[in-house]
Formats: sequence, C-alpha cells, structure tokens
Amino acid sequence: MRSLLSQFRAFELLAHVRFSTALLGSVLALTLLAADAPAETTNTSQLSSLSKPMMLTPPFGSTGGGQAMFVEVEEPAAQRGKSSIACRFASSPAVDGHYDMRSGHYICLVPPHPRPESVDVTIVINGLTFKMPEPYVYTTHGKHDAPVTKVHVPRLQERVQWIKEQLPNKVKLCAVLKNGNPPGWLGKAMSTAASVDYFCVPRVQDGIALRRAGVKVPIIVMYLTDASYVPQLLHYELQPAAYSLAWINKVNQVLERVGQRLDVHLWIDTGMSREGVLPDEALPLARAIHESPNLHLQGISTHFCCINKDDLVALNNNDLNNETVLQKQRFDQVVTQIRAEGIGRDALLHASSSNGLRYGLTPIYYDMVRVGTMLFENPEPENRNYTWETRILQVKTMPKGWCINYGCKERWDEEIRVGLVGHVPDDEVDYYIRGKKVETFLDHETVVVLDLSDFPDVGVGEEVTIAFNGDNSVLNTSYSAPITLEGGMLD
Ligand SMILES: *Cc1c(COP(=O)(O)O)cnc(C)c1O
Repeated sequence: MRSLLSQFRAFELLAHVRFSTALLGSVLALTLLAADAPAETTNTSQLSSLSKPMMLTPPFGSTGGGQAMFVEVEEPAAQRGKSSIACRFASSPAVDGHYDMRSGHYICLVPPHPRPESVDVTIVINGLTFKMPEPYVYTTHGKHDAPVTKVHVPRLQERVQWIKEQLPNKVKLCAVLKNGNPPGWLGKAMSTAASVDYFCVPRVQDGIALRRAGVKVPIIVMYLTDASYVPQLLHYELQPAAYSLAWINKVNQVLERVGQRLDVHLWIDTGMSREGVLPDEALPLARAIHESPNLHLQGISTHFCCINKDDLVALNNNDLNNETVLQKQRFDQVVTQIRAEGIGRDALLHASSSNGLRYGLTPIYYDMVRVGTMLFENPEPENRNYTWETRILQVKTMPKGWCINYGCKERWDEEIRVGLVGHVPDDEVDYYIRGKKVETFLDHETVVVLDLSDFPDVGVGEEVTIAFNGDNSVLNTSYSAPITLEGGMLD
C-alpha cells in the first residue's frame, strides 16, 4: 500500500496537458497534447504557459473543508490575475479557483476529506497540471494557528500490541479512548493493530465516531449516558452503564415500545464517589436488568481510586487498610450477591485501569482490563508516537534589568538571549532544540519565551520540538491543536 507520507518531490510539471476549453476559456481553444508540443503562438498562450504555482498557504486545514487556500502564482505582469486555475486534492474532483485582487493570490476552497491525513495536491493553471512538492495536510478541527501534531500510526499500533501481550491470555483488553483526538481514527488504528476486545469511551459521540471509522468490536460508554440516547445506543451498538433504577425504567420503556434489546454494564461505586451505584443499591438494579426481556447484563464493573505499586502485597495479605483491597472486597461481595440469585453468571467483570497492569495486580484483572494512559505512553521519550514541531519566530537579547512578565516580580540580572515561539495551546509541555531540553521563561501559550543561553548559534527558523511532559500524551488529553495521522496502516 502507498504510504500516507507524501514524499518530497521536485517541482514537477506533469508531462501531459489536458485539453480543456473550460479551463482555458472559450477564446483559447488550444489542443495541447504534451507540454513540449508546439504551443499556439498567440501572445496569451505564450504568457499562460509561463504561469506556475509557487506556494500554498496555509498548507494544512480541517477535514471539514471550506477554507480558502491561497495559491501564489508566478506569472508575467501582463498575465497577472488572468489565468484559469483549478486545484485537486487527492483524488477528489478538481475545484475551480479564482484570482483574489486583495491578496494578489489565487484562491481555491478546500474540499472536505474523510480523514486527517496528508494528500497530494495538483494545481491546473491554464490547462497545465503541476504536482505540488508538498502535500496538503488535513487535520482534525483545532486551533489552526497551532503547529500540527502528527500522530505516527504504526508506532501507536506497536504499543497497543505490546499492551495486549502484557495481559494473560484469558484477560480481555478494553482500550480506553478518553480524550483522544480523533477518537474514531485512533480507535480504528488500534483495532487494526491488535485484538482490542472492547473500546471504552466517555461519550456516546465518541462511540459513534468509532463506528463511523469502521470499528467493529463492542464499545462501552462509561459514565452517565442520558436515557434519551437509546436510539443511538441501539443503532451504533453501544453498551452504556446502568446507574440507577430510574435510568433502567426509562430505557426499558423505549426498548419495549420498539422491541429491541440493549446490553448494559452495571457500574458500581466501590469507593470513589464518582460513577456507579453504591454497593448496597446494586442488587435491585441487577434484578431489574435481569427481569427485563429488553436488557442484558453484559458486564459488572467498578473503578479504583487509588491503585499503587504496593497493592499486590496488600491484596495477597487481604490488608483492609489498603483502599484497593477494600474496593475489591466490596466489588466481590456485590458480584457474589448478584450471582447467588442466578443473575449475571456470564457477565464480564472489569475493574482495573492502566496502573493495575503497570503494577501487575493480577487479582484485579478479572475478565477485562480497561487501559487508557498506558496505551499512549512512549517506550522512550525520544521515541514518541507523535511529532509536534514548531520554529523559532523571533530572537532577541534581553537587557539586564528588563521586567519579566506582568507585575515585574522578576528582572533579568544579566543580559540574556531568548527565542520566541507562538501558539502552542497547552502549557504542560516541554521544549527541545536539537534533542536538548530548553528552559521556558514565559509560557502564555500564544507566546512562549525560551532560554537560548545554551544555544548561541540557534536563530530564527530553528526547529523546536514540543513534547508533553510526564505520563501525559497528546493522544490522551483534551486538547485543541490540529492533529493529523501519518505512517499509513489505517486500512
Ligand atoms: C480513565 C478511566 C480508565 C482508564 O484509566 P487509565 O489510567 O488511563 O488507564 C478506565 N476506567 C474508567 C472508568 C476511567 O475513568
């Protein structure tokens, strides 16, 4: 399969020139069969053939399309603005462009595209086709002044495979896509790579995004799904959490009327005060699900508040001073109670998140482990599953005594050289130049001031790598920079 990464090609004038009266205008009915074929000798056509596209601005934009892409065209002064132009993105039909007097550029409106990926662009000017050297990068919707984050799909897939291998054979993997962006394509990439048994998502919308990207495995919508979502849950085969009798009754009414059946997970709050019913209230819910011909108890679940590395010892010693042990005990009691009534004997039990796996807490793996954070961690900091790069836009030397930041609580005690980057919509990041970490003096997101005292020969235009610090990943935070996928392997 062709790589999604578009290779850098020399500015290439395609050998063939199409006959197109629409593009050339009715006055110029030229029959050019090849670029080197004898051209018509009218002035206009000689001039037209000298027009060629130089730069596309901006070189990226959202998959929704509709944005103006400006095409700088080098052409003789007499021809300026008079050329016919069309732009083609990937294999979608070419779109006609027009000349914009104000900017002195031609404009094409970018068509929508199904995925955030790089595509080839060809520009047709006066019937001549030019393949542009750089691809157009379709991204997710994000703050479009921010540098594009490129997710390396194969590396992410290797990670998912590795996680799967860490689990005992019988234990299923639920990949938690909590804040990932774009959830649909990330999910698709993951399930193509390894046998992800389930996906767990916070919102119905994320589940829909996964289905639309072609994910086939079961999907759990954790947390509180409003009962009014029944049609979406049924249509997209999403499994919600059952969290109250009122919710069960409401959902049941609709299911009865339309004659459909829904798989649900009974979620139990065993000690976190967040989603789920308290253990004492779980049995009546289990009974209500069991008695309904329209509901199926697919799973019983809880979430741990406080997993840490000492828990295995505590679990083995049944140490009830340990929160994890306590939560496990409450969970087990409820499950035993429910199963004693012949309910949920085949229900999938799932409780642990990444840290359970990280610390090898096998007693809490049950039938399935829900892994989020660990899926997105990089094997080493220098081997990331994404790249995020920007450039230094300005360099200046700050005079001694100059105020630093609002309020002037600090001043430079000596002259210092700084470099500025702009529009990085997250301040939980580190900056690297030539692989070396750079100190951040100010991070206002719109403007970031970096310490260049250790980089005397770094100037404007130098590449700066942006990386999330700690366990955080661009793929696991709610975050608003545009994202694109690269490296292929999505099909
Ligand atoms: C966030 C979350 C997970 C995944 O947790 P990680 O630590 O990211 O692996 C699993 N289950 C629930 C209910 C969660 O909220």
